[in-house]
Amino acid sequence: MKYKYLFGPVPSRRLGVSLGIDIIPYKTCTLNCVYCECGRTTRLTATRKEYAPVKEVIYELREYLQKEPELDYVTFSGSGEPTLHSKIDIIIHFIKEYFPRYNVAVLTNGTLFTEEEVRVALRRADLVIPSLDAAAEDVFKKLNRPHGSLSCEKVISGLAQFRKEYPGEIRLEVFIVPGLNDGEEHIAMLRKAVQKINPDRIQLNTLDRPGAEPWVRTARDEEIQQFAKYLGDNVEIIGKFKPRNGITSFSGKEQSILLTLKRRPCTAEDLSYILRLPLLEVNKYLQMLLEKGQIVGEQQKRGKFYKIINR
Ligand code: SF4
Repeated sequence: MKYKYLFGPVPSRRLGVSLGIDIIPYKTCTLNCVYCECGRTTRLTATRKEYAPVKEVIYELREYLQKEPELDYVTFSGSGEPTLHSKIDIIIHFIKEYFPRYNVAVLTNGTLFTEEEVRVALRRADLVIPSLDAAAEDVFKKLNRPHGSLSCEKVISGLAQFRKEYPGEIRLEVFIVPGLNDGEEHIAMLRKAVQKINPDRIQLNTLDRPGAEPWVRTARDEEIQQFAKYLGDNVEIIGKFKPRNGITSFSGKEQSILLTLKRRPCTAEDLSYILRLPLLEVNKYLQMLLEKGQIVGEQQKRGKFYKIINR
């Protein structure tokens, strides 16, 4: 069966083997982050609605999960903000009712936790990973380029409120964009915000595949260490992937990407179009192939082109 809303399982640095659910059309989000690996936001909105028909999503989930695949998480992520879906609660409820052995994770930008309905919707998830990159309005605007209805202060209050109500694990992710949010003064503000939110874990991340804006660069090791030191205790730096050997579902798609690149260099967008794979998934495989030294990326006018080494 060809799935429209499910992708992967993909190897995730944070979640091990994760089956992705993408219930928001490309690229619909409340933010337009400069580092977004899915590219620039084309529909910047804060309007919640049933973007993907719930019936179809549930049909695919039933079809997939009844085969009892080996997974660490079923994860709401993809090419937009999942809490924009007005019926995400029904989908989470379905998984927890009918396939309780699977953990549900939600990757969210946390901007809609100001709405009670959104906080309630995520209550049955096992793990919520919200992000918070800015604690000052100007940094929020430059780095996350939010929808006009959002303010940094409200986002932080919404996250703190969610923490008070949600019984599961919260891992707060902070993405470092050198030159934008790594000033000492700003990190001190972030530290205060993090204390107010009180997550179970704080994780630092930085660019590891092409972002929405070409000028965004990866933070160097010493910059990450410095950021972690200023942000507070118990800050984790997100590690590398788990070994993926023996997980058959990855190899087929990796091979398809290699075969396509053997014919001609492509951008991630080209591969996504040719192979009909979500961009997010393509980017993860490209990262794996880069790490293995099988491909290289080269920035050109139309974007970053990947090609096979030693063709
Ligand atoms: S990184 Fe996440 S929150 Fe930011 S624009 Fe991309 S999908 Fe939206």
